[in-house]
Amino acid sequence: EEKRRQRLREAVELAARLFHHLLMNTEHGEEARDYLTRRGIQRSTMEEFQLGYAPDSYRFLLSFLKRRGFQEEELINAGLIAQRDTSANGVLSYYDRFRGRVMFPIHDSQGRVIAFGGRLLGEGRPKYLNSPETPLFHKGKFLFNLHRARKSIRKQNQAVLFEGYMDVIAAWQAGVTHGVATLGTALTDSQAQVIRRNAETAIICYDSDTAGQQAADRGLDVLKNRECIVKVAQMPHGMDPDDYIGRFGSQAFIDKVLAQALPFTAFKLETLKKNVDLKDEDERMQYLTQAVEVVAQLPRAIERDHYLRRLSEEFGISLDALKQEQRKAASKK
Ligand code: ATP
Ligand code: MN
Ligand code: MN
Ligand code: MN
Repeated sequence: EEKRRQRLREAVELAARLFHHLLMNTEHGEEARDYLTRRGIQRSTMEEFQLGYAPDSYRFLLSFLKRRGFQEEELINAGLIAQRDTSANGVLSYYDRFRGRVMFPIHDSQGRVIAFGGRLLGEGRPKYLNSPETPLFHKGKFLFNLHRARKSIRKQNQAVLFEGYMDVIAAWQAGVTHGVATLGTALTDSQAQVIRRNAETAIICYDSDTAGQQAADRGLDVLKNRECIVKVAQMPHGMDPDDYIGRFGSQAFIDKVLAQALPFTAFKLETLKKNVDLKDEDERMQYLTQAVEVVAQLPRAIERDHYLRRLSEEFGISLDALKQEQRKAASKK
C-alpha cells in the first residue's frame, strides 16, 4: 500500500516538473508565460510556486508518463488521467485531465506535490479544474501554500486566508508571505485547526462579492469555534485581493486592507447593517435588536460592554435600555 502511494507521488512529482519546464523554457509554454506576465506574475514567482503549463493535447502527459513506466490505472488514481468510453464496442480511451491550462501545484504540509489546480488561459468553463480526491489529496484537509507560509505564519502569529491561487500568489509578491487558501471550497474544521495550531489570529480576505462574503461569514464561525481571533478584510465591492493589489498596489493592500480588517463583532454588525435601511425607524429598531443579540453572545463581559456603549452612542439609546435587551437575548438562548 505504501509502495502504491509512493508510485503516485512519483507520477505527480514528475508531472509537476514537466509542466514547470514547459512553462519556463519551451515554446509550448509561451502563451501561458505571456498570460501570467500580463497578470503581473514575475518569473521568480513562477519559479517559487513551481507554476506550470499543461499543453492543449489529449495525450501529452499520458505518453510522457507511460514512457516512464507508469500504468494508466496508476495515473487515473493520481488524478492526472481520465477515462472514457468512446466507441460502440466499449473500448476505453485515456486522456490528460489537464489540457491548455496554467498549472498550480498543490503541496502537502511537507512540501511534496500531491495535486494540481489548472486555469484556462482565456474564458471558458470550467475556469479552474482541480485534481479529484485521490489517496494523496483530500480537499478538506489541505491549505494551499501552507508549507511555504508556515514559518511566516508562526513568526507573525497570524495567517491570512484567501479564496484563490492567484490571491495567494499576488499577496506573496506584495510581501504578504503568510497567506494560504482553501481550494475553492468552504473552510472546514480541520483546516481551522491547522491554522490555529500555527497562529492565534486569522484574517479572512475573501472576494468582495456575495459568494465571498457569505463564505467569510461561515469561515468566521468555524475559526471562532477553534478559538482563533478572527478578522475580516474589506475591499471595494466586486474586487478580490489579486484585483486590489493590481489596481492599488502592495502598500495599500497591507495598510488599508489587512491592517484595517474588521474584528469579528464589528464585521457581524456591518453585515447586519447591510440588510436594513437605517433611515427607516422600524428597521433601525430591528437592527438594534439583532445587534444586541450578536453582542449578547460574546463570551467576554468587557467586549459586551464595549459594543453596547458604541451602539448606545451611535443610536442615542440609553445604555440601560440596551442592557435590558441584552439580558432578554441572553436568557432566550
Ligand atoms: P482568476 O483571478 O484567475 O480569474 P479567481 O481565483 O479570482 O480566478 P474565483 O472565481 O474567485 O477565481 O475562485 C476562487 C477559487 O475557487 C479559485 O482560485 C479556485 O481555487 C476555485 N475555483 C473557482 N472556480 C472553480 C471551478 N470551476 N472548479 C473548481 N474550483 C474553482
Ligand atoms: Mn470569487
Ligand atoms: Mn476571485
Ligand atoms: Mn481573481
